[in-house]
Amino acid sequence: MLDFNPDDVIVQNGHYIDGALVLESSDSLPVRRPSDNQVYADLAIAGPAMVDRAVASSERAFRTTSWATGAPRDRARILRRWADLIEAYSIELGRMEAMGSTRPIKDFLAVDLPYAADCIRFFAEFADKLGGEIAATRTDMLGMVISEPYGVVAAISPWNFPVTQSVTKVGPALAAGNAVVLKPSELTPFTAVRLAQLASEAGMPAGVLNVVQGTGPVTGDALCRHPTVGKISFTGSTRTGAAIMAAAAESGVKPLTLELGGKSPQLVFADADLDKVARNIARSIFGNAGQVCVAGSRLIVARSVADEMIERIAGLSDTLKAGPTWSSQTSLSPIVSTAQLDRIDGMVRRTIQAGAEAVVGGRRFAAIQDGAFYEPTILTHVTPDMEAAREEVFGPVLTCQSFEDEEEGLSLASHPIYGLAAGVHTADLGKAMRAVRSIKAGTVWVNRYGRTADYIIPTGGYNSSGIGKDLGRQAVEANMRHKSALIDFA
Ligand code: NAD
Repeated sequence: MLDFNPDDVIVQNGHYIDGALVLESSDSLPVRRPSDNQVYADLAIAGPAMVDRAVASSERAFRTTSWATGAPRDRARILRRWADLIEAYSIELGRMEAMGSTRPIKDFLAVDLPYAADCIRFFAEFADKLGGEIAATRTDMLGMVISEPYGVVAAISPWNFPVTQSVTKVGPALAAGNAVVLKPSELTPFTAVRLAQLASEAGMPAGVLNVVQGTGPVTGDALCRHPTVGKISFTGSTRTGAAIMAAAAESGVKPLTLELGGKSPQLVFADADLDKVARNIARSIFGNAGQVCVAGSRLIVARSVADEMIERIAGLSDTLKAGPTWSSQTSLSPIVSTAQLDRIDGMVRRTIQAGAEAVVGGRRFAAIQDGAFYEPTILTHVTPDMEAAREEVFGPVLTCQSFEDEEEGLSLASHPIYGLAAGVHTADLGKAMRAVRSIKAGTVWVNRYGRTADYIIPTGGYNSSGIGKDLGRQAVEANMRHKSALIDFA
């Protein structure tokens, strides 16, 4: 039985610096459970002095421990041991994550946790395969390109998948030999500390992975602006990404990886397997209640099958069961906060006022305990300029538009701002490939939607959805810089 009592879950407050919990803080912030809105902890917030302490510790660890200077295969061994420990403590981590976030315990244990462990193992394999290059020059000269870690990487993660998003940020940075200071979201702060403790238990030298807790404008900003930070790896909203880019520019022109927001289309042609597509779409927009960067939030469907398609998705939405994340019966997550619930509801209301129709949902659930829950929502009669079709809602809200021919479908699928991901569903390979080439997005899935363990393939956005790549070999490379050396031995 996976169900548990959230009051039994113990979290460790404080920052994790130099291999130990540090509880001093300049300020604190109440942290609530999304499922019932109960405050369960007062988060210690790191001010600039605490951030400085964490960065100094990481810089020392980078310089003086074997992490960057020792044999890379030892680094790989520690990372693999860390993955094993994450699996060994799966129930403890699962309860902590489910209690404090929007991830139902069942989904976390079945999807997130194995993904996090395997993702670390995947990156561990790169640690001892990061050789540089020898460049062909004159016979009395040797040109070399040496790959080097940056030193201290600042990693900032969002609340929607706290464990997997943190691992995605720190995994490649650590494998490349960097030390990392991680700042998780202040809404879901505690599993990050547990992850760092397990890294220590796996043998990672103290200071190689530090965690500072706090809000974006205080802790996150101080971390990004710290002069010793060599690179910033951020996942979150486009708006915050822009603020971080400005901070990086003003504090030494730091390189960044930015994984940002999206408004991803699901382009469905009339020849697609509609049952399979309906399952893909329902999962992509109602999974984690739509609080997914790559949520397939815009259905763009051939007019001849539009009604049938919408009916099938609506049928699947009916089977979802909203409830607390600590119940194994829950298949529809809560919304992360009441503020976010109000935001979703406002966007849906204004879109309906502008002429859209809610054929399913379109309102909050009557109170389930005191948690924030929004009904799975399908909006028709939508035009591209309407708010819910234009902006990232980050809730279980699907907008539907239909097209007459391929050209119109492709034109509706493109978005003026975002380009994170897209789904294309058709039995015609030619149509699929034309769509893959035409849609401006970092990832295009054909006849499927979503990741499921393909950390081998990089992820990242076009346009305002981001810069650089997480996952894949590219993520490790993004955490290294390249030095050219030219040796004259004539
Ligand atoms: P957010 O931008 O509000 O916060 C993300 C993180 O940034 C948090 O840790 C926050 O404390 C921190 N932060 C906020 N302001 C900051 C500042 N000025 N300086 C430094 N750090 C700051 O995002 P969120 O609400 O936590 O997450 C949802 C967003 O994340 C959505 O837009 C979603 O699309 C995006 N996201 C993208 C991906 C991806 O891979 N592209 C994955 C998950 C989430």
